[in-house]
Amino acid sequence: MADKKKTLTTSSGMPVDDDQNSVTAGPKGPTLVQDVTLLDKLAHFDRERIPERVVHAKGAGAFGYFEVTDDVTRYTRARFLSGVGKRTEVFARFSTVGGEKGSADSERDPRGFAVKFYTEEGNYDFVGNNTPVFFIRDAMKFPDFIHTQKRHPASNLKNPDMFWDFLSLTPESIHQVTVLFSDRGTPASYRNMNGYSGHTFMWYNAKGDYWWVKIHFKTEQGIRTLTRGEAARLAGEDPDHATRDLYESIRKGDCPSWKVYVQIMKPGEAEGYRFDTFDITKVWPHGDYPLQPVGRMVLDRNPENYFAEVEQAAFSPGNFVPGIGPSPDRLLQGRLFSYHDTHRHRLGPNYHLLPVNAPKASGENSYQRDGSMRFDTNGGGAPSYWPNSFGGPAPDPAAAPPPVDVSGMAARHVYQHTDVDFVQAGELFRKVMSDEDRDHLVGNIVPHLKGAQKRIQLRQTALFYKADTGYGERVAKGLGLSLEEVKRLAAMSQEERVKSTAG
Ligand code: NDP
Repeated sequence: MADKKKTLTTSSGMPVDDDQNSVTAGPKGPTLVQDVTLLDKLAHFDRERIPERVVHAKGAGAFGYFEVTDDVTRYTRARFLSGVGKRTEVFARFSTVGGEKGSADSERDPRGFAVKFYTEEGNYDFVGNNTPVFFIRDAMKFPDFIHTQKRHPASNLKNPDMFWDFLSLTPESIHQVTVLFSDRGTPASYRNMNGYSGHTFMWYNAKGDYWWVKIHFKTEQGIRTLTRGEAARLAGEDPDHATRDLYESIRKGDCPSWKVYVQIMKPGEAEGYRFDTFDITKVWPHGDYPLQPVGRMVLDRNPENYFAEVEQAAFSPGNFVPGIGPSPDRLLQGRLFSYHDTHRHRLGPNYHLLPVNAPKASGENSYQRDGSMRFDTNGGGAPSYWPNSFGGPAPDPAAAPPPVDVSGMAARHVYQHTDVDFVQAGELFRKVMSDEDRDHLVGNIVPHLKGAQKRIQLRQTALFYKADTGYGERVAKGLGLSLEEVKRLAAMSQEERVKSTAG
């Protein structure tokens, strides 16, 4: 027998007698304000949109699990990593960065790669990208950088001058620019890309020994990318192609998976290392720090409701569990503040109570109370302060991370631009890329950079030349720039180059 049909109600639970016709004064007369059913319906509709994320607005997500495959207890006390075979529920969200909520999935952009692990010691969030490096290394530059990827204040159009002006004035971006303009900047789907922590994090064990680590999620579907032409076609024909691909593959039971690895550095090695361990514009070459297997992530369950579970999902690189902590990376330090802050703005101060964000395996025992939309029992009648002598939750000194030695003069220390900033972009171009990859890279850069003013083209091409002379020569040729001029600029310091191309 079919279930008895539910009666439609208003938001306050009152049965609705008619959901098609407003109450009017006579068949042709005006609508009456006393039609509270209509008012209830319209008022809620008027408030259906919440602010979209200022970055990573367009995304798709799914639930699944993480399983430990290799013993890493020597390096971390995190309980979800405490034994081979141990499984933890996860929720992952993938996204583009600069585009709005309705933008095309195939846009050239880094892809967000965020995973929430619902562990028994609270939620641990991995908030990475599909690229191992980033454009800038100090959070102070982040709002400026993002403005250049968004729309021009006057025209409301994407603007190549803004885009390349900032990058050419920010030489540490050269490595990420090279990754972004390779075909990795247009992944074929969210399933066909890797995820990288980018930042260096700290892992520490039960004895208080610690290590610096970088985390890698490697796709088991294989890397697949789009050419510029394919990406442009998909933007028109199926702008949601990556969202569709993730949802449909999981619906059909073809569940995507990633192997998870860690690079591990002894703290004593950070000081003398040839690259700054805490600079997110650099990788640790695999030859120096090989990938060590940790586990495997499988996504096997689609969300039941996109808004509730994907749009309202909120990640923060500051959601740690004992055994994992921050590093002095300047960009990470800014993100530790900014992620929680933007969610408080977007979703409200109690966003952590929403089911997708709440710690599922541990529960929350804090003295935080009240705030808008406090929809749980708000601690009931239990103590709302600490210390108390009424049995409220108490801090556990055993959860403390090990002490880390930091010292120095408090000042705005300028990060000196050196030629080290060009080394890894050059390695990528020369050593990692195939001839076809290099053709595509230059072919992707030229039509984009061509839209910027000539002096900006020259300044940026000098940076490509500094990474690799062949790279710079090919971009200069594609743009029709004088190679002599590019070489002259490349030989200068960044300060001289900026002065010489000031316009
Ligand atoms: P390896 O040869 O050991 O590793 C090269 C890495 O580059 C592989 O992980 C590969 O990923 C990745 N890769 C291949 N094509 C591209 C591309 N178009 N854009 C970005 N990454 C790509 O070299 P090293 O570790 O010595 O590093 C050399 C360069 O490789 C670095 O300067 C960096 O640019 C890049 N790289 C290094 C990573 C690292 O953590 N060491 C991570 C990613 C890139 P895959 O395995 O999926 O094919």
